[in-house]
Amino acid sequence: MPPLRLVFLGPPGTGKGTQAQRLADSRGLAALSSGNVLRNEIRQQSDIGKAAQGFVQSGGLVPDAVICGVMLAAVDRLAPSAGFVLDGFPRTVPQAEALAGGLAARQMRLDAVLDFRCPESEIVGRIVGRRVCSNCQTTYNTSFLPPRVADRCDRCGGALVQRVDDREDVVRARLRTYAEQTAPLVNFYDRLGLLRPIDAAADAAAVEAEVNGVLSTLRRSG
Ligand code: AMP
Repeated sequence: MPPLRLVFLGPPGTGKGTQAQRLADSRGLAALSSGNVLRNEIRQQSDIGKAAQGFVQSGGLVPDAVICGVMLAAVDRLAPSAGFVLDGFPRTVPQAEALAGGLAARQMRLDAVLDFRCPESEIVGRIVGRRVCSNCQTTYNTSFLPPRVADRCDRCGGALVQRVDDREDVVRARLRTYAEQTAPLVNFYDRLGLLRPIDAAADAAAVEAEVNGVLSTLRRSG
């Protein structure tokens, strides 16, 4: 079977990162989260990190050229036969066009775009309870996906922290950014026949089952 190449689309807080991690564990796909890549750059205070910092902290989007370069470089670090999930990228139509061109140049194509759908009222509650491992970036939720030991990562024992952009005012800005700049990708990928809706309001296990059900229906030609 050729490697699976997926995009996870959907507003923040709909569980894309959690499900990408589960696919990484169950199918060996690389989970490439644009947010994690940017947060690493910011932590290291690289040139990219410095350029991205203000946009990330305010809930806006970093410039298309910056994120496209970073994400295609991440794809290039994988073995050519590796499958991957792009989590949080693309987020604008120009990014989607750049991704299509970049993948075509590498003789790669997307198998599907999973569109995580969830009511906004549910999203805000979820994000406010979100905690992330400061070491390996695994995501938890204080109410419905707690770690086994309080404030410690189950995987690596790292300290769990709240992201600075998970404050409610920034979350609202991120949701506005999504509606204005990212929601048009739903039509973009629907027209290409790649879009698969996912009911992301369900619990993580049910969403995982739905994701696997959708993946089992894909007809893949390489
Ligand atoms: P996330 O972890 O996916 O919620 O991303 C956190 C923040 O990183 C976003 O609010 C944006 O500021 C930035 N970001 C992540 N992915 C992208 C992207 N594809 N394009 C532009 N900015 C992005």
